[in-house]
Amino acid sequence: MEQARAIARQRLEVHGRVQGVGFRPHVHRLASALGLTGSVCNTSSGARVEVQGPPAALAAFRERLFSELPAAARVDEWTVADAQPLTGQGGFEIVASERSDAPQLTVPPDMAVCGDCLAELFDPADRRYRYPFINCTQCGPRLSIIKDLPYDRPGTTMAGFTQCAACAAEYRDPASRRFHAQPNACPDCGPRLEYRAGADGEPFLGEDALARAAAT
Ligand SMILES: [Zn+2]
Ligand SMILES: [Zn+2]
Repeated sequence: MEQARAIARQRLEVHGRVQGVGFRPHVHRLASALGLTGSVCNTSSGARVEVQGPPAALAAFRERLFSELPAAARVDEWTVADAQPLTGQGGFEIVASERSDAPQLTVPPDMAVCGDCLAELFDPADRRYRYPFINCTQCGPRLSIIKDLPYDRPGTTMAGFTQCAACAAEYRDPASRRFHAQPNACPDCGPRLEYRAGADGEPFLGEDALARAAAT
């Protein structure tokens, strides 16, 4: 019983710019690192986090949740409440978004390419070498692809692009900076450049499109 009493559960409601900025992956990594179980999901007003574990670890979680926020995230307001600890918790997971009829969200802006993506972009050995639509949880399109909130791939213009196996593996890997990166894409599965000289012109794709456009 001593053990059971030492376990607590808390629910945090976080408001601000917390969607499309790597917030859920941040929560997942932090909770996992601290050995906490629970879940995080996007809601119509931000994000909801449920964490369970020893009180000291929960305190460390709350501290680092905000002190180590992803660069593009911004928390305007948050609340915490005690919840009933659950049994049979296997780990920490990112769960499906909750919806309501009245979204009160801060839509994330598009973000300039980050240093890590830039390095890949110009690395001939990288599978996204010179891929113009490169992105990750720290950069890339948000506002310009969002059609619906909460922010998830099916609610964006990326819905029609099914991730290839390599991209899907990154999306599922907590250690990847593309973990739950909604616009994740590569030359094999994502959008690509197309160039036509006039509406009826022959289409040129990818590098050819770029070369044609530059020469025009
Ligand atoms: Zn990036
Ligand atoms: Zn891909």
